[in-house]
Amino acid sequence: MINYQIIIDDIAIDAKRTKDKGVVASYIPELAKINSTKFGIHLIDANKNGYSAADAFEKFSIQSISKVLSLALCFSIVDNDIWKRINVEPSGNPFNHLSLLEFEKGIPRNPFNNDGAIVVADILISKLKNPKTDFLVFLQKLCNDTTINYNKKVAESERVTGFKNFAAANLLKSFGNLHNDVEVVLDLYFHLCAIEMNCEQLAKAFFIFMNHGKCLQGETYLNINQIKRINALMLTCGFYDEAGEFAFEVGLPGKSGVGGGIAAVLPNKYTVVTWAPGLNQKGNSKLGMLALEQLTTKTEQSIF
Ligand code: GLN
Repeated sequence: MINYQIIIDDIAIDAKRTKDKGVVASYIPELAKINSTKFGIHLIDANKNGYSAADAFEKFSIQSISKVLSLALCFSIVDNDIWKRINVEPSGNPFNHLSLLEFEKGIPRNPFNNDGAIVVADILISKLKNPKTDFLVFLQKLCNDTTINYNKKVAESERVTGFKNFAAANLLKSFGNLHNDVEVVLDLYFHLCAIEMNCEQLAKAFFIFMNHGKCLQGETYLNINQIKRINALMLTCGFYDEAGEFAFEVGLPGKSGVGGGIAAVLPNKYTVVTWAPGLNQKGNSKLGMLALEQLTTKTEQSIF
């Protein structure tokens, strides 16, 4: 039997010692205030045992990791209709890249680039009575934890600096792929990015992706084929123009956020979350990627 606790303790010690921790995102001013020496990791195995190390219980801005969770809620509501408005191909470009969207006539490459996630937010607004509250309740139920909430300051910080997201939303609107007002859709999008969770809470939320759609409390949210598709998208698109590198080094479906979090799953085995705010040049957590490479190497387990 693998002793996950020993392995993640070693990983955390290594991460804390590593000198080059990457650079904290500064294009969202609220995120620039975060201490780059933080490192947290939490793993939940298939028997629902949790293993944590270092700053695993400190909340951080989940940013683009929320794109997997908003996709999950959207997919559970509209099923395959979602793919009429969003493609499922890796973009090979940064998360906020725009020219492909124009070239491909307003159909985002995938739901994990900003443009795709903005369309997901648009669908949620069309389908839900109170999208912000309903999304939060969905997340709170997945984690059985009512303390999960939005950080209003971060959402506002994104709104006042979100020029590229406004450009993407306007481009989508011009192609008829945004049904609600730009301001309204982006307000939800910025709030989704501004959710705060710690490593343990996020690992709990991602339990559905390693457990065929069933959450920690035993309730089923998505079917096996939907989970297959979300995990495939995480593997191929979860790290933008570094998705190949993550598959190559780590070998797990996963998703990063510019808050420094990474959530990943090994189906049927575990869900794991790392948090290290320093990013590499592609906008993915530098130490998080290293830590997960160590995890799959030391445990000799990956999807391959
Ligand atoms: N809120 C960020 C943005 O829209 C999300 C980007 C990310 O985490 N990769 O730019």
